[in-house]
Amino acid sequence: PRLANQIAAGEVVERPASVAKELIENALDAGATRIRVEAERGGIASLVISDDGHGIEQQQLALALARHATSKIQDLDDLEGVATLGFRGEALASIASVSRLTLTSAVEGETGFCVSAEGRDMVADVRPAPRNRGTTLEIRDLFFNTPARRKFLKTEKTEQNHIQTALSRQAMSRFDVGFEWVHDGKVHWQLPQAATEAARAARIAKLVGQPFMDAALSVEAEAIGLRLHGWVAAPTFSRSQPDLQYLFVNGRVVRDRLVGHAIRQAYRDVMYGQRHPAYVLYLELDPASVDVNVHPTKHEVRFRDQRLVHDFLFKSLHRLLAQVRT
Ligand code: ADP
Ligand code: MG
Repeated sequence: PRLANQIAAGEVVERPASVAKELIENALDAGATRIRVEAERGGIASLVISDDGHGIEQQQLALALARHATSKIQDLDDLEGVATLGFRGEALASIASVSRLTLTSAVEGETGFCVSAEGRDMVADVRPAPRNRGTTLEIRDLFFNTPARRKFLKTEKTEQNHIQTALSRQAMSRFDVGFEWVHDGKVHWQLPQAATEAARAARIAKLVGQPFMDAALSVEAEAIGLRLHGWVAAPTFSRSQPDLQYLFVNGRVVRDRLVGHAIRQAYRDVMYGQRHPAYVLYLELDPASVDVNVHPTKHEVRFRDQRLVHDFLFKSLHRLLAQVRT
């Protein structure tokens, strides 16, 4: 089973950022309203993720580190809707197989317990660890037992940036959750829950920079079964690189050629030269009309009616941008 876990680990655990992403998804699945991510040395030395979610029962703690121990699929029908973000039931087992891991958790009304593993070997029994409701995953020495994989890691600075990118995407898609990001003792963000439009705009400004928000046009469009909202920068703020382009489809970050094309087309009329649009956009549609499971880690989707989505995006943005045409 250890080998199987390490093979599985190759799929989910590529670098500290992929660990962070999985653990944040778990925290979101647990209904967290606040998530704190603290890393040291690019997350290679340590990565600590804490949440205030529903926690894990004492008897379930060790099991949570076992492979296919998901508590999230009740029956096959669940696979269709994929109500929760994680559903493979092997993230924790995979991460544990390539690190020194401590899982601490408490459910409402109980005091909390923890369990530790080292490269899949449970190193201690479940023991008391008083805390408030929620869960903390502490990952140390990632890939300490898989030197070949460790060699593929880039500099600490690069790994830190990858974590920040992953975290930033999650923070952009879940305004209802507060996020804190600390690296080597420095607090980079403290993002409170954002319930109002102004608070959401303030969060985006913190994540991608105030100049974007200063140039941003607010998007709000609806058609049968489709809703587009968010911000698109006026053409005066277009970029020389396509580096400020975020699209979330039903809350999940997506890189999609069709969508990119629709947005570029809408810009073409109002833009000068070879510049790229900047946007943070959210597309909401019936989960049944989009397949998000094309690949679990690549950010691909497949729309049932591509033409419809393309035209909706193009028309919504074109109308808006035409108003600011100079
Ligand atoms: P999956 O998320 O696919 O179910 P994981 O390996 O990521 O599998 O997690 C295993 C199980 O551990 C989850 O199904 C859940 O029951 C529990 N778990 C993991 N992280 C948390 C958390 N932050 N809060 C509450 N429960 C958690
Ligand atoms: Mg998970």
